[in-house]
Amino acid sequence: MKKLLTGNEAIARGFYEAGGHVAAAYPGTPSTEILENMEQYKEDIYCEWSPNEKVAMEVAIGASMAGARSLAAMKHVGLNVAADPIMTYAYLGVNGGFVFISADDPGMHSSQNEQDNRYFAKFGKMAMVEPTDSQESKDYIKEALRVSEEYDVPVLFRVTTRVCHSKTLVELGERTEVAKKPYVKNVGKFLAAPAHAKVLHVTLEERLARLEEYSNNSPLNTVEMNDKKIGIITSGISYQYAKEVFGNTASYLKIGFTNPLPFKMIEAFAKEVETLYVIEELEPYMEEQIKARGIKCIGKELIPNVGELNPDIIAKALLGREIRTIEGLDNLHDSIIKRPPTLCAGCPHRGLFYSLSKIKNVMVTGDIGCYTLGFTQPLNSMDTCVCMGGSISTGHGAAKAFKQAGEDKKVVSVIGDSTFFHTGMNSLVDVVYNKGNTVTVILDNRITGMTGHQENPGTGYTLMGDKTIAINIPNLVKALGVEDIQIVNPLNLKETDAALKKALEFDGPSVVITRWPCVLKKFSQEDKSEFGCELKKYKVNEDKCKSCKLCLKSGCPALSFDKYAKIDPDMCVGCSVCAQICPFEAIERVGE
Ligand code: SF4
Ligand code: SF4
Repeated sequence: MKKLLTGNEAIARGFYEAGGHVAAAYPGTPSTEILENMEQYKEDIYCEWSPNEKVAMEVAIGASMAGARSLAAMKHVGLNVAADPIMTYAYLGVNGGFVFISADDPGMHSSQNEQDNRYFAKFGKMAMVEPTDSQESKDYIKEALRVSEEYDVPVLFRVTTRVCHSKTLVELGERTEVAKKPYVKNVGKFLAAPAHAKVLHVTLEERLARLEEYSNNSPLNTVEMNDKKIGIITSGISYQYAKEVFGNTASYLKIGFTNPLPFKMIEAFAKEVETLYVIEELEPYMEEQIKARGIKCIGKELIPNVGELNPDIIAKALLGREIRTIEGLDNLHDSIIKRPPTLCAGCPHRGLFYSLSKIKNVMVTGDIGCYTLGFTQPLNSMDTCVCMGGSISTGHGAAKAFKQAGEDKKVVSVIGDSTFFHTGMNSLVDVVYNKGNTVTVILDNRITGMTGHQENPGTGYTLMGDKTIAINIPNLVKALGVEDIQIVNPLNLKETDAALKKALEFDGPSVVITRWPCVLKKFSQEDKSEFGCELKKYKVNEDKCKSCKLCLKSGCPALSFDKYAKIDPDMCVGCSVCAQICPFEAIERVGE
């Protein structure tokens, strides 16, 4: 049976059909749906949201060591977090087949950078596989697991946003049960003491040589010979773009197994064609290696290494002409009103950021999540954002520097609940241990908001839908050594103002926890009993409105101004923040 699947759905299906046993991930665009779809196979596959990518990688590594076919999934920046265990696991090799997904985000649709993670495979001396569509995403997972077991190697399965989120037809198959391999204690293989690792490094180099032989004969690397004037070496989504531009007027070497590269194939292909192009997104990963072998080719001289490619960019760069595959896009660009991203109407973070915006002489260090939008106008309440979990430690460093220079400036670090569990906890330990004097605000909206409402250790539910212990953030913070802890309702501005004031006056590490569910969340039974959440809508009483525009400083997208302030009744969820801001009581509850 054929089905239209996204690349992410196909990866989950491929792992299921390949007899996969254990899968773990931390959500992150564009990889999130891999584990969301894995959940439908929970009868056969144990799957979990781990608190961060390093933990997910380690869970999958442990399962592989125990003999299970295992998978870890993450977005590209998540692999930075997980780099530590995987670099060593490449030395150790596997027991059960082991695949880890890096979903890269060229164009930074939802990321803080657009790093090209293919270099991780070369750097870490691991095998790498790159599918070009959903069918290959499913099929290549099976081959990747087979290669992992045959060559005793972890496999980096690299996809990009367009492969993850595009839908193509996929032929579904049945699950093949693969028995878990027996676990046999073997410290020489699985215990990375220096004496063992020195031996394992030699084995690793031998393994790479064998893998290059496999690469030259791999069914994942294919040649399509057409006109020989132009030859194209490509991989991943770039293959689809190249085919769209050149069709059958060029020959192709499509590389699906991209580390080690199939140099015998590449040399033979290069000899056959007159002009050789290497078409790849982001970095010249293949091109550099091909040129280093003395093979003449054209790549990044003409094709940009910034942002996503598309057929138009390739046609313009290599043929010097427009092909207009995205017809009418320019017209759309002109007619669509630009809408900068903003916190949702009724977002519980708005109250906190509004309160923060009124405080002078503070630096606010931010983190990764939808609340990063606290930096936007008119809230303008965030100064920095570096990486997941980094807000508390960058804030600590800044506060130490201010103190050392004798500057009277305090630091507030803001971090979401899931991000706090991810890597924020470690940083708070550092603040306590090193006698920091910052305010940490944990924005607990009872869910992992930005990636689309995945459960996390604080929500009380697992990925597989089981009820579990909800980690109590105030107790955890207390256990980490923080003495000054306040819990506030961020929709109550007076309460939030007072908590921030008290925390800023406290001498030592202080934590404010803002607790209110994400406005888009489907409430659990626990949410309903804790928050009630019967919010009523608000409207502006024009007789009382003095047109001072102060309410617009909330940044709520439901508010607009035309002579008087206005509230869009379809967008307003009745959080009451604007009503609290209005000094003239011109914003009133509807229905009372
Ligand atoms: S803050 Fe009140 S008075 Fe001022 S514009 Fe808004 S609704 Fe009108
Ligand atoms: S009450 Fe005001 S701030 Fe809250 S959602 Fe409605 S318009 Fe926006």
